[in-house]
Amino acid sequence: MTRKLLVATHNPGKVREYRELLAGLPLEVTYLDAEGITLEVEETGATFAENAILKATTYARASGLWTWADDSGLEVDALGGAPGVYSSRYTGPGASDADRYRKLLDALTGVSWDKRTARFRCTVALAIPHPDVPGTSEVPGTWSSRIRTADGVCEGIIAFGPTGDNGFGYDPVFYLPEHRATMAQLPAEAKNRISHRGRAAREAVRVLKEMREEPDQP
Ligand code: IMP
Repeated sequence: MTRKLLVATHNPGKVREYRELLAGLPLEVTYLDAEGITLEVEETGATFAENAILKATTYARASGLWTWADDSGLEVDALGGAPGVYSSRYTGPGASDADRYRKLLDALTGVSWDKRTARFRCTVALAIPHPDVPGTSEVPGTWSSRIRTADGVCEGIIAFGPTGDNGFGYDPVFYLPEHRATMAQLPAEAKNRISHRGRAAREAVRVLKEMREEPDQP
C-alpha cells in the first residue's frame, strides 16, 4: 500500500515547487486543499524550526497522515536578520508579495550593494502521527509524533529593484551573483536546484527514507 504524505501548506507558490521537488517519491503526495483541510496554524515560534514543527505536528494530528511542513523566510543582514520568521507577515493582512518586497526595498534605501547581503532559509519538519496510548489519540496530552527536521539555505543580495516574473514572494528582489539573475528570473528547475527549499527538501527526503525504515511504525 502506498503511504500518503500530506504536504501542509496553503501557499500556492510552495505547492507549485513541492509538486516538482517531490515528483517520483514512492509516496502518494497530497496537499491541504486536496484533503479539504482549512485549518490555519498560528506561527507563534521564534525560529523557522519551531514554526515548521508546530505546523507539522498540528496537521499530522488533524489528518492522521504522515506530514511534511516547512517554515521559510528571508534574513537581511542590514536589517539585523529581519523580516526572518515574519517574512509572510512583514506588511499587514491582505498585502501582496509586491507590497512586501517594496517595503523591504524602502527599508534598504541608501544601503550600498555590498551591505545588502541576505539569505533565504527553510526548515522542513516531518511528523509521523503516533498515539501514545492506543485509542486515546483525541485526549489532549496523550498524542505525540515522531519528528525530524531538515534545513536549507540560499545566499544572495537584495537588488535595488524587482526583476523577473517566476517564483513568488521576495524572488524578484533576491539577486544571485553566480547566476547574474534574480531568483524570479530563473526557470523553476534552476530555482529548485539552488533554493533553500530545494536544499531542505532533498535532505528531508533522505530523512523520510530513514524514518520509513525505523521500527515502531504506528
Ligand atoms: P511561511 O514559510 O509560509 O511562513 O512564509 C514564508 C514567507 O517567506 C513567504 O510568504 C515569502 O514571503 C517568503 N519566502 C519563503 N520562501 C520564499 C521563496 O522561495 N521565494 C521568495 N519568498 C519566499
